[in-house]
Amino acid sequence: EAKAEGRGTFRLFEPKMDEVARERLALERELREALQGDRFELHYQPLVDLSDNRIKGMEALVRWRHPERGLISPALFIPLAEETGLIVPLGDWVLRQACRDAVGWPGDISVAVNVSPLQLRHRGFAQTVVAALAASGLDATRLELEITESVLLDDTETNLETLHTLRKLGIRISMDDFGTGYSSISYLRRFPFDKIKIDRSFVRDCAGNPDAGAIIRAIVSLGTSLGITTLVEGVETEPQLAAIRAEGAREVQGFLFSPPRPAGEIAALLIAQDDTAGPVTRVA
Ligand code: C2E
Ligand code: MG
Ligand code: MG
Ligand code: MG
Repeated sequence: EAKAEGRGTFRLFEPKMDEVARERLALERELREALQGDRFELHYQPLVDLSDNRIKGMEALVRWRHPERGLISPALFIPLAEETGLIVPLGDWVLRQACRDAVGWPGDISVAVNVSPLQLRHRGFAQTVVAALAASGLDATRLELEITESVLLDDTETNLETLHTLRKLGIRISMDDFGTGYSSISYLRRFPFDKIKIDRSFVRDCAGNPDAGAIIRAIVSLGTSLGITTLVEGVETEPQLAAIRAEGAREVQGFLFSPPRPAGEIAALLIAQDDTAGPVTRVA
């Protein structure tokens, strides 16, 4: 064994590895407990239609309400949930909760739910979605599922079949973070997406940099010729918005309009919009 008479590197390395493993196990246990203890919550961020500047939908973004660490970002726990398989029950909870929340909103507002590759690949995913719709009473046409292109890399036939099944039910499918992978465009040929969400990395300097703007324009034009709606993610400033408008994108999402907000604030926001004829999208 390393600790008895092994090389020095081993002796130095081992306790550290141990610590990492222990921390991971602790986090996994906490994640499991959080699921049982109902310690996740959904926040929602508006998706804004640029033709009338009104909110057309809301993206559900999960957060973990940790007793000591406060609100934890999905970027920190979704990867662990995926590695441990806990993403399946967590994703199921997210779907059900999002449908339940959305059914209380005005009837023209849709809800977008992020779906992890592991969930999609899991047997019975389509039934899980159908069950969430049935339990809430939400119409299938008000549900959008967001998937990243990496989803389609493995097990392609099964994934495509599941997506086709869902789409036939009236559920819309969006490609999330478009442009961050290496085969984004080829996926557009393999599956009829309803929406392309252009990754926010393209927005960062689209106001000042003609090349960044040209890329957005090209994706919008590709979407238009394929009959796919394009949304630009991560819009933070007025100059960015002006540039995106000029490139012809149909929808936007970003801190300029609103950060993700707790579910409790959403119904009131949407009802206020319903009572107003003009744009009420700036709630940041
Ligand atoms: P995403 O699906 O691409 O969601 C958009 C992310 O961008 C959100 O981060 C949102 O808060 C952030 N964002 C929105 N507008 C702006 C902006 O103007 N500027 C900047 N800098 N950021 C903006 P969030 O909530 O931390 O979520 C991160 C990622 O975690 C999501 O990226 C999604 O991939 C994943 N995620 C969140 N909720 C779920 C879920 O329920 N299930 C799964 N599988 N993944 C989820
Ligand atoms: Mg998303
Ligand atoms: Mg995204
Ligand atoms: Mg993302």
